[in-house]
This record gives sequence, structure tokens and C-alpha cells, in this order.
Amino acid sequence: MNRNVQFISINAKKQPVLSNKVIFIIDFFLQKFFFQINVSLLQNLKFNYINIMNLIDGKLLAQEIKNEVTQTVSEIINKGKNAPHLAVVIVGEDGASLTYIESIKKNTKDVGMLCSVYQFSESINEKELLDALDFIHQDEEIDGCIVQLPLPKHIDKQKVVQKINPKKDVDCFHPENMGKLVLGEDCFLPATPHAVMELLKRYDIETAGKNCVVVGRSNIVGKPLALLLVQNSPNADATVTICHSKTKNLKEVCAQADILLVAIGKPEFITADYVKNDAVVIDVGIHRIEDKSNEKGYRICGDVKFDEVSQKCKSITPVPGGVGSVTMACLLKNTLKAYCIK
Ligand code: NAP
Repeated sequence: MNRNVQFISINAKKQPVLSNKVIFIIDFFLQKFFFQINVSLLQNLKFNYINIMNLIDGKLLAQEIKNEVTQTVSEIINKGKNAPHLAVVIVGEDGASLTYIESIKKNTKDVGMLCSVYQFSESINEKELLDALDFIHQDEEIDGCIVQLPLPKHIDKQKVVQKINPKKDVDCFHPENMGKLVLGEDCFLPATPHAVMELLKRYDIETAGKNCVVVGRSNIVGKPLALLLVQNSPNADATVTICHSKTKNLKEVCAQADILLVAIGKPEFITADYVKNDAVVIDVGIHRIEDKSNEKGYRICGDVKFDEVSQKCKSITPVPGGVGSVTMACLLKNTLKAYCIK
């Protein structure tokens, strides 16, 4: 059934970008003629200014996408229909997964969607889980379904992934959707690579013909992201290099990138010497690392050393407040898409 629902697209407000060269000239004259000004204060000002100007604001974009989804969902409800409904399946008590699920519950509620969480004990066997997935997929009221990874070792992940109904597969795990992604056909896009593509598109970052280097080749981030960037389409058309742990001369390869996209899973691994002047840097990584100077005792960081890279590149996604914020919004968008194609 085609419920004939339209997406409404409003472009994010882009931040004006002041190039590092202009900053340098202003800095030079200020330092030359006003040398009595405390230089460290000046450097501090310069640092803050560059950061503000070059930020690719994921929070802003996430809110914009959520507003679009909210509007469409309220139109659906106003027509007397059921709200789009997402099912989340989790096995066990993995802390990070439970935090993510809490966030899904909050975000689906924010946009007016329904969310059902099916939590199973770690002792569930493979057949029981597959039967439960059958039950969920036969439920007409459920539009989208995600299975939270990791799964316990005694359960074959591939069997579970293949059990997901491709029409409800809003995380794009099923081989049918992955295959469509490779072929450039319409399908659910995996949320994190989708988020990166939305950031590039809505911030008018040109990808056509650009040298894009993706660091990381996981099935959920690096590989699909590289495939999306290389598609023959107006918002892609990039020349793509994929790097991984066996790549030789990683630093040199990264330093060739016009757009450097990092999903390596190592805190602050990418330093300024990996980055070409005026490159765009997209940091997918997210880590909580110990920091005694912070009152919480930890801080959140990405795979990129933000302080030094942000001073060299043209624009950069922060962590937190970058790709991660948009990922959730893209999951909501996929759930709405699943509802619309039902
Ligand atoms: P993953 O499955 O651990 O994959 C990491 C990739 O990085 C692998 O392909 C690995 O190469 C490569 N790698 C590791 N060390 C390397 C090195 N020294 N040099 C070059 N390549 C190296 O991680 P993932 O699931 O893709 O996640 C990556 C990061 O993104 C993590 O920090 C994760 O928390 C974060 N993440 C964020 C979001 C979001 O929404 N923001 C979503 C998902 C993940 P091999 O293949 O050779 O091992």
C-alpha cells in the first residue's frame, strides 16, 4: 500500500566559512601593529574563531531532519492513520546498546512515532530468536525493525540478518538491501553512511571528482560509505580510496584527500599531519576517554584529533555534535520510508 506521503525539504543554514588564509592575514596585522596585545589571548581568539567558522554542525542538521519527519508523521496521524512504528530487538544487556535504545525511544517519541523494544535474555537460542523475528515481521502494525548488535556468540549473526524482512530493514543489514546499495538502486541506506551523505549534501560540500579517502572498511560504516560516495549521482561521483589496517603509508594516502572520512575506531588517531590544508574532515568515530581535568572524569572524542586538525582543515564535524547526531535522524527517516512503501 502506498500511503503517498511527501517529504518536505528545507536546507540547513550554512555557517559562513572564513578561510584560514584570511585568518592568518588578520592575525599577522594584529600581531604586527598591536604587539602589546597579549599574544596568547590573540591565539585563543583565533583558535575559537576558526573552530566556530569551520564546524559542520550535525546537531543543527539532525534537528532539521527531525522537523521534516515530525511534520510528515503529524500529517499521517491527522488523516486518522496509525503512526509509523519501529521495533528494536536486543539480546542481553550490553550497556552501549541499551543507551542507544533509550535514545531511539526518546527520538521516536519526539517525532510522534511508536517504538517497541523486544529484549531477550542472553540464554535465548537461535531458533527462538528467529521465531521471534518471524512474529515481529508478520505484525502488520510494525513498519521498521532493527536488530541491535552484537549478538551472543551462540547465535549466527548472518542467519538473523537474513531473517529480517528487507522491506522493514531500516538499518540496511539484509543482503538484498546491501545489494541494491551496491547497484545504486533505491533502498534503505545504513544510518551512519546515510548521515555522512546528508551532511555533505546539505552543507553543499562538493564531492564530484573529489579525492575522497575513507579510513575503515566495516560493513556498517566504511564499506557502504565508500559505495555511496562512488555512486554515479549528483551528490556523489567522488574518486574513492578505502583504507584499512593493512594499508601502507596511511598518512601519505590520507594527506592526498580533499575529503577525509574516518571510521577507524581509535580515539584521536588522525592528527594534523594526516590532513591536507583546506581538506574537509568527517569524523565518524565516537569514544569516551578518561580525562581527569574534566569534572565528569571523562570526555567524548572522535577518531580525529580535533584541536589540531580543525586549525588546518577547511571544515570538520565535531564529536559530539557531528555525524552521531544525524545518524539517529536518518534512522527515523528510514522508518518513515518503510511506512510509506508498505
Ligand atoms: P570497526 O568495525 O572496528 O572497523 C574499524 C575499521 O578501521 C576496520 O576496517 C579496520 O581495518 C580499520 N582500522 C583499524 N585500525 C586501523 C589502522 N591503524 N589503520 C588503518 N585502518 C585501521 O569500526 P566501525 O563499526 O566501522 O566504527 C568505527 C568508529 O565509528 C568507531 O569509533 C565507532 O564507535 C564509530 N561509529 C559511530 C557511529 C555514529 O553514528 N557516529 C556509528 C557506528 C560507529 P581492518 O578491517 O583491516 O581491521
